Amino acid sequence: METSEATFITPVVPMDFTYNYRIGPYMTRYLEGFKERKILGSRCPACGRIAVPPRKYCGVCNKVMEEMVELPQEGTLENFTVGHVILEKGQLKAADAPYVLGLIRLDEKASLLLHRVEGVDPSRVEKGMKVKAVWKEDVEGDYGDLDHFEPA
Ligand SMILES: [Zn+2]
Repeated sequence: METSEATFITPVVPMDFTYNYRIGPYMTRYLEGFKERKILGSRCPACGRIAVPPRKYCGVCNKVMEEMVELPQEGTLENFTVGHVILEKGQLKAADAPYVLGLIRLDEKASLLLHRVEGVDPSRVEKGMKVKAVWKEDVEGDYGDLDHFEPA
């Protein structure tokens, strides 16, 4: 039997549940930093690279990175994509408006941080733009505390 994309049935399986998981000591430090509006990374003792968010092992040297460092609130938009769909309860749907997801470098030795960039028309975003962190008014040590980045 010949198959094509058109022959596949795509059942919808509605799922709505709370997923609890342990984020480990490094991500815990990262989110604790959010309570003070700090962006933390871990620095490799061998090569000096900084992982943002922090992680235990350097991806290049495989050394344990115990030193936590605070990153600046401003950085450079190294690359980006413009999104037109969002994932909602497991289903793709059209976004209300195009949005920008950026790869942001907060320090020349730091890894890229993926985050939403707002305050700029998606058609006018450019690589190399300076962007700054925008925090929620009330921070509580959650991923959403660092709300977005915007042009600096
Ligand atoms: Zn290293």
